Amino acid sequence: MLTPAAQVESVMEIDLELLDRLGVRALLLDLDNTLLAWNQHDLTEEVREWVELATGRGFRLCLVSNATPKRLGVQSRELGIPCVPSAQKPRRRALRKALRLLEVQPGQAAMVGDQVFTDVLAGNRLGLYTILVIPLHLKEQWWMKWVRQLEGLIIWWLQRSRNAWG
Ligand SMILES: [Mg+2]
Repeated sequence: MLTPAAQVESVMEIDLELLDRLGVRALLLDLDNTLLAWNQHDLTEEVREWVELATGRGFRLCLVSNATPKRLGVQSRELGIPCVPSAQKPRRRALRKALRLLEVQPGQAAMVGDQVFTDVLAGNRLGLYTILVIPLHLKEQWWMKWVRQLEGLIIWWLQRSRNAWG
């Protein structure tokens, strides 16, 4: 019940071709740490493009999140896909609602999210294909690399000034 059918680095890595072959028509998407890093309000260009790609390939998308209607509504309008807010995952009610909205059966849908105890559990309980995404907040090393480079530059500059001033 807690084991996802697939695990990916990010939504961009989801094998849409495989889902197609498995008969998956719809993707229920978690928001926080799946499409959006916890400390960010704006969706990245990459995520927007991926949503367009998936939609263009005929997948029906829906945001299913424990977030408030107001917060989720913003992202839903932004991406042009429907949403089910206040989902209370791992309860199944919100997922059922999303399936009704997208007019698909549980066997034709995948739940995509970063949490085993909410997203994966809810999806598995309902018989959806479940995809676990590595939480976005664990992937901020690129930023730390940049900070370290900057730190290196400052240290170099400090040493140089010290040398210059002897
Ligand atoms: Mg999440």
